[in-house]
Amino acid sequence: MSSQICSRCNRTINPGDLFYRLTIKVFADFDGVIKIKNRNIDIEQEFEKAKAYPEELLEEEVYKEFDFTLCPRCKEIYCANPLYLPLDQSREII
Ligand SMILES: [Zn+2]
Repeated sequence: MSSQICSRCNRTINPGDLFYRLTIKVFADFDGVIKIKNRNIDIEQEFEKAKAYPEELLEEEVYKEFDFTLCPRCKEIYCANPLYLPLDQSREII
């Protein structure tokens, strides 16, 4: 097993050292409600517009995944405030 690098601080993680995997999945969700702002919308035309978008951009609109390697210190820092909220707000949520 070769050494790895912490994605956050660039510290070398040697074989046998404790490290963590951080996988973040961001995906579109649906609550079952469709809001139609413009009732004169042409579904066929909108579908054609969507087909003109690059596939990668459309996929990123609905699903994006990130994978990181973290050293123990960076794991603690990340877990203390995963949404990177201002410190006074993160305490209120917990
Ligand atoms: Zn680190």
